[in-house]
Order: sequence, then C-alpha cells, then structure tokens
Amino acid sequence: MSYRGPQAFRRAVTELARLPGIGEKSAQRLALFLVRSEGKYVQELAEALADLTRKITLCRTCFGLADTEECGICRDPARDDGLICVVEEPSDLMAVEQSGQYRGRYHVLHGSLAPLDGVGPEHLKVRELLERVKGRPVREVVLATNPDVEGEATALYVAKLLGEQGIRSSRIAMGIPMGGHLEYADQVTLARAIAERREFTVR
Ligand SMILES: [Zn+2]
Repeated sequence: MSYRGPQAFRRAVTELARLPGIGEKSAQRLALFLVRSEGKYVQELAEALADLTRKITLCRTCFGLADTEECGICRDPARDDGLICVVEEPSDLMAVEQSGQYRGRYHVLHGSLAPLDGVGPEHLKVRELLERVKGRPVREVVLATNPDVEGEATALYVAKLLGEQGIRSSRIAMGIPMGGHLEYADQVTLARAIAERREFTVR
C-alpha cells in the first residue's frame, strides 16, 4: 500500500473523491490546495457546505431550490402564471434563467424517466405538476427536458398527461444537440431553443 499522507488528509481526500466527477487524483489536488489555503477559506467553505443541508430545501410549488417554503421565482408577482417551464434538475432551471429569455414559472421533475434504471413516473414530480395545473389558467407548459432518450420519453409522457387535462405543451427547439445537457449549453443556444419552442401536445 502506497503512502497517502496523514490520516486527516486521507479523510479529506476520501470525502472529496465521493463528489461526482472527482477522482482520487483530483481529490488529492483539492485537499492539498485546501491545506495550503490562506485565512479563513476552509472554515468558510465548511460553513457554506453545512448550510446547504441546513438551509436549502425544495420549493413547495416548483420543487426548485429554496431557502424559504416557496422560492423567489414562485413568489415573484411579475412572473407569467400562464406559462410553466418543466425541467429535469434545479441546474436546468438556473440555465434557463440565465438565458434571460423566459419570464414564466417553473416545475422541476428531479430526474427523467429511465425504466431500465428503475426510474418511473412515481419517482418524479409529475403528479405534483398535474395537481398544480388543475383548474389554473395555464396557457402552455414548455417541456425543457434534455434532448436525450430519457428526456424525450419524459417530455412525451408529460405532454400526454397534460393533453388529457386539455393543457397545451410545447417542446424546446433543438438548438441543443441530441445527447447534450441543458446546463452545458451556451446562453445563446439556450435562448434560441426557448424562443423557438414548438407545440408538443400529445393526444
Ligand atoms: Zn418555486
């Protein structure tokens, strides 16, 4: 077994390596950076991380991230109540927001349909979406799930259920490459994708 540093260092490396996309080498590099960092940075980082689980919850309406019962977007009276943009993850909501093209509301599903991995509709916030639009003046639901196999299947499924309730759906235009992810799209591409969304009602 090769030497991997003192115990406290190894513990930090082990925890950092549990983060997505961080391998053993990167974790070691990050831990070394933290050991060498100046001032209160490590303490501030630790507090910021602790606050993530202490203070951040899911918005009771859209299921985006919030630090109160309802998020700032749901509370914003200037937003268009007739338009709901459905995304897979909170990071997608943030990506659409950063496009600056959208002034409606959101609904975060927290995943996409992946039957082979055992992810069915009951694991997503689909029922909550249907409850939410029931009897509300919703003109259109913009389906902004990822343009990959799971995202497409999810959009189809949701559009069909909404159609049964008489609600129009649209699908974002494919400025986003197939197999791509919203959070990695540049702002112009994403803005165009929102602006050029098309009707997607399934009956
Ligand atoms: Zn919200």
